[in-house]
Amino acid sequence: MRILIKCSGGALGKEDAKYDEASVEGIADQIGTLLAAGHQIALVVGGGNLFRGRDLSGKLHIARTTADYIGMLATVQNALVLRDYFVSRKIETRVLSAIAMPQISESYIPKRAERHMEKGRVVIFCAGLGAPFFTTDSSAVQRALEIGAEVLVMAKDGIDGVYSADPRKDPSAEKLSTLTLASALERNLMFADAAAIGLAREHNLPIKVVGIGDMTRFADEGVGTLVTPA
Ligand code: UDP
Repeated sequence: MRILIKCSGGALGKEDAKYDEASVEGIADQIGTLLAAGHQIALVVGGGNLFRGRDLSGKLHIARTTADYIGMLATVQNALVLRDYFVSRKIETRVLSAIAMPQISESYIPKRAERHMEKGRVVIFCAGLGAPFFTTDSSAVQRALEIGAEVLVMAKDGIDGVYSADPRKDPSAEKLSTLTLASALERNLMFADAAAIGLAREHNLPIKVVGIGDMTRFADEGVGTLVTPA
């Protein structure tokens, strides 16, 4: 199965640490297991462990657009970190950036990405969509659609699916096993930002939301939440 995994930047770190050895190794091990099971894998990595555009916007005379570009650069850093961990496990990996950086990455060329995947290489997409005012959630949906992924797996840090309310605030919150994209929007269950969920809904992309440690079990019914187009 061709899958696209969205991995938040936060999943690479722990508490105040931007990078946590065990966390990054855990991701690499799971990617290795998924490849060995015959899946074609692409990853969109976030940058939230390092920088989010909205955190700096309006401060220090930095424009929102500039802050967003800095956020995109943070995702490139994370992609390079992941690549080296993957390579250390003999997982062939290619980093494809939406902003041209020929010294450290290939440029995003959709057909090239598909070719890499067909050859058993993991593709890491970074720099988001290469445009401000988006997030890597939207990038993940767009890339999944463009490369024809059958499912987008959103691997979450600190939560293992979609809940009826925020379980950190509401003890009566229940985990949902399935949900439609439309009802996620209606009920404001924002496992991704609204723009990303809206794009997935418009183009019928199923999304599986799982905990970061459950990536290899993404297809299991009892794991996470399956968010279906209808
Ligand atoms: N970003 C952007 N355009 C994109 C993707 C990302 O401007 O297409 C910027 C935005 O500032 C965002 C930051 O990059 O806050 C890091 O991405 P994100 O917040 O999605 O990372 P995550 O929360 O998934 O770690």
